[in-house]
Amino acid sequence: MILPKTLEDLIEEFKKFPGVGRKTAERYALFVINKYSDTDVHQFSEALENAKTKLNHCSICGNLTDEEQCYVCQDENRDQSTILVAENVKDVFSIEKSNEYKGLYHVLNGVLSPIDGMGPEDINLESLWKRVINEQVKEVIIATSSTPEGETTALYIKRVMQDIDVLVSRIGYGVPVGLNLEYADDLTLSKAIENRKKI
Ligand SMILES: [Zn+2]
Repeated sequence: MILPKTLEDLIEEFKKFPGVGRKTAERYALFVINKYSDTDVHQFSEALENAKTKLNHCSICGNLTDEEQCYVCQDENRDQSTILVAENVKDVFSIEKSNEYKGLYHVLNGVLSPIDGMGPEDINLESLWKRVINEQVKEVIIATSSTPEGETTALYIKRVMQDIDVLVSRIGYGVPVGLNLEYADDLTLSKAIENRKKI
């Protein structure tokens, strides 16, 4: 069966989403065609547009925000002496959802991966050193995944920080080896932070 080109184009767009194959893309496309009102279509395209034009990375920590600084960095009630280093924004979402962590973040937006050509200058590290030298910071909790890349990144950060007077810790057991933080539940995450160890 040959589909109308307009429908085919929409299916192709949905197929670009992670985890969406041909069948699901067809279902989404038909859902839009059959169920979406003009307002829905307008809201969807506007949300897409805004996500690309209005969101940017927080100038302090690298978290996603539609302001200059994210809500965490703007919140003076957060514990300014602790910075949790996360691989990506998704991990920050997960930790924030667990509602246990009250410190600040630093989002790397990537991990070191020599195989993929990802070096220290390709991730958000430079501003981390500057933040940590600030005397208010007493502890840096490294919460990168327990994947080989996450471990390499953690060791690199530890090495650079060894001459700075700050406690460097790594989130603890509770996060199984090889697991990405986004798949950990709230309790596992808060335990992992609680059980962090000095490295
Ligand atoms: Zn921020």
